[in-house]
Amino acid sequence: MIPFMDLDAQYRAVQEEIDEALFKVIHSYKFINGPDVEAFERNFALAQDVKYCVGCSSGTAGLHLAFEILGLQPGDEVLVPTMTFIATSEALRQVGARPVFVDIDPVSYNLDPAAIEHQITSRTRAIVAVHLHGNPCAMEPILAIAQRYQLKIIEDCAQAHLAEYRGQKVGNFGAVAVFSFYPGKNLGAYGDAGALMTNDAQLAERAALLANHGRREKYVHLIEGYNYRLDTLQAAVLNVKLRYLPQWTRQRIENARLYHDLLCNLPIGLPEMTTEKKHVFHIFAIVTDRREKIIQQLREHHVAYGIHYPLPLHRQPAYASLGDVSGRLPVAEKLSDQFLSLPMYAELQPEQIEFVCNLIKKAF
Ligand SMILES: *Cc1c(COP(=O)(O)O)cnc(C)c1O
Repeated sequence: MIPFMDLDAQYRAVQEEIDEALFKVIHSYKFINGPDVEAFERNFALAQDVKYCVGCSSGTAGLHLAFEILGLQPGDEVLVPTMTFIATSEALRQVGARPVFVDIDPVSYNLDPAAIEHQITSRTRAIVAVHLHGNPCAMEPILAIAQRYQLKIIEDCAQAHLAEYRGQKVGNFGAVAVFSFYPGKNLGAYGDAGALMTNDAQLAERAALLANHGRREKYVHLIEGYNYRLDTLQAAVLNVKLRYLPQWTRQRIENARLYHDLLCNLPIGLPEMTTEKKHVFHIFAIVTDRREKIIQQLREHHVAYGIHYPLPLHRQPAYASLGDVSGRLPVAEKLSDQFLSLPMYAELQPEQIEFVCNLIKKAF
């Protein structure tokens, strides 16, 4: 059996340190904020080369904060790639803004810069750049469009810890960036957790206030906010795992290279690997019109797989009220029928990758 990811193998590799870190928090009885949260915010800011990090209760909470501190208002339109997890657009409703879905590029699977411009209206205020599967967006053309139309950029880095575009870490290209530490993400907590990052001191201050009931002191509330704090037990877990993240990321990339080498002669689409982008392979997705055949092979041999994502956002029932845009975003629609995500994690062994690739070959 080959799992899709192996949280057990990862835990076994760092068990003593995690157990000790959790034990320390429990015995300190400081479950809210405290030194572990501060340490994580500092360490993650250093890891991503971004000045400020505000821990959050989830990536989704971080996205809500991002939309609010950027001043999005009811009636505003925000451009969102249609191929992403719903959290990217979901939090827009909390500020009354509306997602406008944009097609993706067939090679990077990210927001297609060429498709952005004709979706811009007088109400467009921002673009959410999602670094899907861990592959950074082509930020240069997106930044150029944002500048031309004075749009804010929010980076959704939920799948892209330590990813880089032209040698610079993601999280540095927009006004605000958001990360998720959902357990299965490249840096995963043992529950929900996330972070908002920015190089702007005022935005960071505003986000930190909103995330903690609008206060700096215990019972003085400068504004009304939310309870969106990063849980202290999660911060303790994340501090331990963050030390291993560079190594785990290297292993993911090595595994992706082996998949590439073994699959490159087949008529299937493989994830983009360029020198300009450091893809961190949260997901290793192939594109194939023989998906059912391959799935049959994988199932028979107990190899887990995923589809990210089977329905683009513009086809989701939740967005039916935005009007039927079916057929207008053809690349995402085609890829959603052809994506197939293969097992991917740091501890995946070369023999396992060979096994999976041999099964795929059998489908041809
Ligand atoms: C996981 C994810 C989120 C949401 O993060 P949570 O921590 O689960 O709230 C947002 N965007 C993308 C692209 C994601 O993959």
